[in-house]
Amino acid sequence: MPADKDRSCWNPILETLPREKLRDLQVKKFRRIMNWASQNSPYHRRIYRAAGIEPGDIKSMEDISRVPTVEKSNMQNIQLKDPFPYGDMLCLPIEEVTAFRQTSGTTGQPVYQADSWQDWEWWADAWAGILYSQGYRASDRVFLPFGYNIFVAFWAAHYGAEKLGCEVIPGGVMNTEQRLQKMRELRATAFMATPTYVLNMAETARNKLGLDPARDFNIKRITCAGEPGASIPATKKRMEDAWGARVFDHIGATETGAWSFECSEQPGGLHVNEALFLVQIEDVQTGEPIEEPNRPGKMIITAFDRQAQPCVRFDSKDIIQWHGDACTCGRTYRMIKGGLIGRSDDITKVKGVLLAPTVIEEAVRGILELSDEYIVTVMKKGDVDDISIQVEILAEAENEQERIIAELADRLREKTNLRFNISCCEYGTLPRSQLKAKRFRDLR
Ligand SMILES: [Zn+2]
Repeated sequence: MPADKDRSCWNPILETLPREKLRDLQVKKFRRIMNWASQNSPYHRRIYRAAGIEPGDIKSMEDISRVPTVEKSNMQNIQLKDPFPYGDMLCLPIEEVTAFRQTSGTTGQPVYQADSWQDWEWWADAWAGILYSQGYRASDRVFLPFGYNIFVAFWAAHYGAEKLGCEVIPGGVMNTEQRLQKMRELRATAFMATPTYVLNMAETARNKLGLDPARDFNIKRITCAGEPGASIPATKKRMEDAWGARVFDHIGATETGAWSFECSEQPGGLHVNEALFLVQIEDVQTGEPIEEPNRPGKMIITAFDRQAQPCVRFDSKDIIQWHGDACTCGRTYRMIKGGLIGRSDDITKVKGVLLAPTVIEEAVRGILELSDEYIVTVMKKGDVDDISIQVEILAEAENEQERIIAELADRLREKTNLRFNISCCEYGTLPRSQLKAKRFRDLR
């Protein structure tokens, strides 16, 4: 590996470990965390006993696939019981818990997550690796425009950026205009947000402050999380063009940790941080392990080193697929292709057709005369599903409305096999969001 490639790794030894050694390390680390969970948590002990498997049985990846999975609903069922409020998945005495976070609860009751100080250092190290691979260095001044509260959001990114020596500006309790002004005033070189908010900030800069984000700011890099947009080509292009910056994707979650990153080579996928995590892809119906590329399945994930509330074979409901190629960056970590394809609980059937919301996003964002916002609604008309989409046409393109609607109808039909009812509303009337947007409404 050339010397300059070597310098792009946060941990050159682990990130370039030969595959066989990496697999051996993963089996060993899996056995260790399963043993930890089994020794210290009555919950884990129960499910392993019921499945007739114990940590000593784990000798290979095949053995790992037999270990029972845990889902969000299992965590919801035990929480608010002792040790309060996490329930008996907790593996450390409650005195050693130093951080509480919860999920945003978009699918039911929020899940509570305990972390110890050591876990928080683990989060920060994972994030330092992500940012380093995307070209962040100690000379960067990183702005974090999110509400610092009970959702994990970019909290760990804050500590990860500090860990690698960046100067971090916490843009918590400010409105979008104040955040933009502070970013500009301090010449921030990077920021992190959901794709929805990256676009919202660019729009606010143009419309409210009369500024061109690409010209009037100093942003070189943007790291996205929370939504799949940075892996949707049309959305990524919109963000990169608006800010004149490189945009990188990251997928992580409260219950799992920061497990993936798009490296600076931008290979059309995200690396899995395989030294800290085991990602397995399984067939949604049969649970059969999927090793071959380009076949979507559900992600089952294990965090090897998270101690307070371990994540062992967690079924995240995320749909992903393996990438077939090795990355030119020299890392041996496997990649998933095209980011997060969807969630097994939000890929819905409309008129018998499977529909992933990301496909609609690609179609809308590919038309430059449309604004960044749209809302999709599915409802029943009699016995038949009816799908409609509201979009905003930019003011300067208003007299081309007919042509734009026809183009959108064609694109949607081509990508989804569905005929959408399209309606246009005035630019600026659809809701704007600072975190994750809810653009898909199923009213059936
Ligand atoms: Zn790479």
